[in-house]
Amino acid sequence: MRSSKSVLATLLLALASPLAAPPAPVLAQITTPEAFLGFKPGADFHLMTYEQAMGYFERLADETDRMLVLDMGETSEGRRMKYAVISSSENLRNLDHYKEINRRISLPAGLSEEEARRLADEGKTVVWIDGGLHGTEVAPAQLLPQLAYDLVTGADHQTTAIRENVIALLVFANPDGMTIVSDWYMEHVGTPYETSPIPWLYQKYAGHDNNRDSFMGNLVETRNMNRAHSTEWYPEILYNQHQTGPFPARIWIPPDAEPTNPNVHPLVVRWKNLIGTAMGKAFEENDQPGAISRIRYDTWYPGYATQVVDGHNVASILTETQLYRYATPQHFTVSDFPEEHRDLTRGVFYPSPWLGGWWRLGDAVAYNSTASKAILEVAATYRSELLYDKYKVGVDVMDRFREEPPYGYIVPADQPNRGSTALLVERMLGNGIEVYTADEAFQHNGIEYPEGTFILPTSQPFGLFLKNVFERQAYPDLREYSHLWQGLVNPEDWEGGPLRPYDGVGWTLPLQMGVKYWEMTSNLTVPVTKSQLVEMPGSVSGGGGTYLFDHADANSISAVMALLEGGATVRWANEGFTADGRDYPAGTYTVETGRVSTGRLREIAAATGVRFRAGAPRGSTTTLRMPRIGLYVAWVASNDAGWITYVFDEYGIPFQKVTNGEIRAGSLRDRFDVLVLPDQGASQIIEGHAIGTVPPDYVGGIGDEGVLALRAFVEAGGRLVCNNSSCDLPIDEFRIPVRDVLARVPADSFNCPGAILKAEFDTAHPLAYGMPERDMVFFSRGRAFEPTEEDGEEEVEDVFTIEPVVTYPEESLLLSGWMIGDERIQGRAAVLDVSYGEGRIFVFGFNVHNRAQARSTLRMFFNALLYR
Ligand SMILES: [Zn+2]
Repeated sequence: MRSSKSVLATLLLALASPLAAPPAPVLAQITTPEAFLGFKPGADFHLMTYEQAMGYFERLADETDRMLVLDMGETSEGRRMKYAVISSSENLRNLDHYKEINRRISLPAGLSEEEARRLADEGKTVVWIDGGLHGTEVAPAQLLPQLAYDLVTGADHQTTAIRENVIALLVFANPDGMTIVSDWYMEHVGTPYETSPIPWLYQKYAGHDNNRDSFMGNLVETRNMNRAHSTEWYPEILYNQHQTGPFPARIWIPPDAEPTNPNVHPLVVRWKNLIGTAMGKAFEENDQPGAISRIRYDTWYPGYATQVVDGHNVASILTETQLYRYATPQHFTVSDFPEEHRDLTRGVFYPSPWLGGWWRLGDAVAYNSTASKAILEVAATYRSELLYDKYKVGVDVMDRFREEPPYGYIVPADQPNRGSTALLVERMLGNGIEVYTADEAFQHNGIEYPEGTFILPTSQPFGLFLKNVFERQAYPDLREYSHLWQGLVNPEDWEGGPLRPYDGVGWTLPLQMGVKYWEMTSNLTVPVTKSQLVEMPGSVSGGGGTYLFDHADANSISAVMALLEGGATVRWANEGFTADGRDYPAGTYTVETGRVSTGRLREIAAATGVRFRAGAPRGSTTTLRMPRIGLYVAWVASNDAGWITYVFDEYGIPFQKVTNGEIRAGSLRDRFDVLVLPDQGASQIIEGHAIGTVPPDYVGGIGDEGVLALRAFVEAGGRLVCNNSSCDLPIDEFRIPVRDVLARVPADSFNCPGAILKAEFDTAHPLAYGMPERDMVFFSRGRAFEPTEEDGEEEVEDVFTIEPVVTYPEESLLLSGWMIGDERIQGRAAVLDVSYGEGRIFVFGFNVHNRAQARSTLRMFFNALLYR
C-alpha cells in the first residue's frame, strides 16, 4: 500500500537540494528488520515476539549512534520493559541537557516567559509512541522495529528533520502480551484454530483491561510508564495505538467524539485536533483511504493511557486501526459493510471511504506507520510552539487554581482505611503530582487537621489531572447538547434514549478507595514540606501477647494472612467494645501471637502498615481460620478473574486457580472452603467456548455437572462468592427466591454506565465489618435484588435465609457520574448473604473491587473470604 509517489518526491527533493540532508550513516551496516527476523514486520501469517523485537532493537542500537535502548522496569511476568530513544546522534549526545529543558518547560514554576521562549527555541520535542497495550491488537507492536529502522536510516528531508527536532521514544506498552499473543498465533497458524481467541489473559492481571488502569497504576507496567512519562521524560505528544476500528473505516484518528473532558486545557485539545488533522492529510497524501474522526471514541473517561496524559498537558493521540485477527488476511466487499455505509457517502470527517478489498496485517502496519510519521512531522515542524505551549498550559493551570476553587485537597493521614490512604497518595506521586505534608496542625472550614496531614494543591502544572481524579463527576447528558455532536445546520432535539458514552462516567478515586478527603475552598497558609514518598509505618505498642488492630484498614487482611500463616490465633470481635478509653467497633481484629514472635509481629507491622495495640476484646469473638480459596478461571478469559488474582497477590492471600474440569470433577468441599466466581456471565461460565471455535482442550464450560458440583459444595458447608454478573448463576440455577429488578429493564428507563452510588452497609453483619454505615459502591452493569413472591415461596424459605447486607437508600443515589432511573433500585439490596444447606452464598450485585480501584468495598470481599 506504500505509495511510490512519496519515494519519488523524496528523490527529487534530495536532488534539488543536495545540502538539505546530512550524509546518511553507512547503510550497509544497518540490519533491516526483515534480515534480522526472517520476515518483514506485518507479513501475512507472521508475528514476532517481544524478545525478537527487543533483539532487533539491541542490534540496531549497536549499529547506529542515533538510537539508545533504555529500561523502565520489570513487567508483571518479570520481563524487562525496554524502549528505544531515537534522535540525531548529536541530540543523543546531549540527551540529559534536552531532557532538562523539557522538564523545565513542563514544570514551569519560577520560569519567566522570556526564559521559556529561549528554552522552547533550543529544546527538542519529545514524542512517546507506544506499540499498543492490547496484545491481540498486533499491528502497533509489530510496527515498532520497522519504524525504528525507518527513523534511524531515513535520509529524506522529513526524516532528517524529525531526527534533528524530535526525541522519539518507542515503547512496548505490554511486552508480556506481545509474546503471549505471538506464541499462541504462531503455534496455531495453518491449523483450524488459526484465528481462535486465546484462552487466557494477555496481561497477567488485567487482560484487555490494562488500559483502564492508567490513572490508578495497579499494574507495574502502568506505574513504569506513568513514572517514565510524568516524572522523567515529560513528552509533548503521546501516541497510544489500538486496533478494532470503526468498520468499514480503516483507522480512527482525532478529533475525538463528544463529550470532551473539561479538565483538559483547551490548548491541549487544539493540539490534539491539529495533529489528528495532519494525520488525516498524511493518509490522503499516501493514498490510504478510510481515515475517520469524531465518532465513537470520546475523551470523557480519564482512566486511559491517553487521557491520563491529557491532564499532564500532553497532546495525546489515540488511533484505532481496523483489525481482522492476528496476522491473517481477510477480504471484504461492500456487501459486508453496515447498510448505511454501502453507498460510500463522504463526510467532512470521512472524506475518503474505504471501498473494500483485502485487509492484511501489513496494511494495518502501514497505516500505523503513516500515523506515527505524521505525528513526528508535526512534532518537528512545530517544535518550539509545542514546547512553549506546554509551558503556557502549565502556567495557566497554576495561575487558575491560585485564584479559583478547588484550591486543592486535604487528606488526613490518620484515618480508618489507612493503607488505602497511603496507597492513593503514593499513586499520585507516581503520576507526577506534588504532595505536601502539613508541618503543624491547622484549621480549614472549621475542621482541625493534625500535623502530617497530606495537602495536594491544584495550583501545580498537572493540577487538572489531580482535579479530574479527585472531584465528583457531573457527566453531561448528550441529549441536552445536540449542538455539540450533531454537526447539522440546525441541531435537532434528540427524542430517543440516552446516548451511550464510550466508557464509565464517574470514577472519583478517593471515593472508590474509601479515603476521606476535603476540598480546599481557599488557599492554606500552613507551613508544609514536599513529600518524596509516603511513610505511614505500622507499629506494635504495649506488650502481653494479645493485640487489637483495625478492621477498616484494607491492609489488615495482609496482616491476618501473615499471622494465620505463622500459627497465631486471630479472631474478630462479634460486637463493639471499649478498651483503654478507645471505642472498637464490631469486627475489630485481635491476635494472640502464640508462635509468632514480637520480632515477627514488628515485621508484619512494617510490611503492612498495620498498628497493633496491646489489648483484649470484651464480649464474644469468632476465631478465624486460614481459608482454602479457589478462584474459578474460565477458558473464556475473564479480565475480572485477572484482577481478583491481582488482589490476592497484592494482599498476600494464598489461593488456587480452578478450571472447568476441576469443577466438573466435584468433591470441591474436600479441597476448598471458599470458591470465587469472577464478574462473568453465567452462560459463559456454564457453556464456555463452542466446539470448533477453539482447540478441543479449551471447549466448554463447567456444564450442568459443574453447576451441581458447585451446589453440592455449598450444601456441604462451602462458601461461594459471586461478583456482579456471576450472581445470576446461583440465583437462577440454585433457585434462590430473589430477582434482579434491573433484568430486562430498557436503557431509557434505567441507565448507569459506570458511576459511583450511595449505599448503606449493615456494619453489624460480618460481611460489612470495617465499612462505614454509609459509603459508596461502584456500579457498572450491576444488579439490585428483591425477594420473589412466586408460588412455592414458603417451601423455599425453609431452606434459605437471605440477609441483605448492603442496600441502596431511598433517596437520590448518585455520588459521581450520571444515571437515570435510580428510583428503580432505591430500597433494594445490593449485597446478599444467603445461607444454603451448611454453607453460604455471598452475592455482590456490583463489582466489589472494580479493577482493584474500589478499595473501599474490597474490604467486604476480604470479609467474604474469612466469614463462616
Ligand atoms: Zn485496544
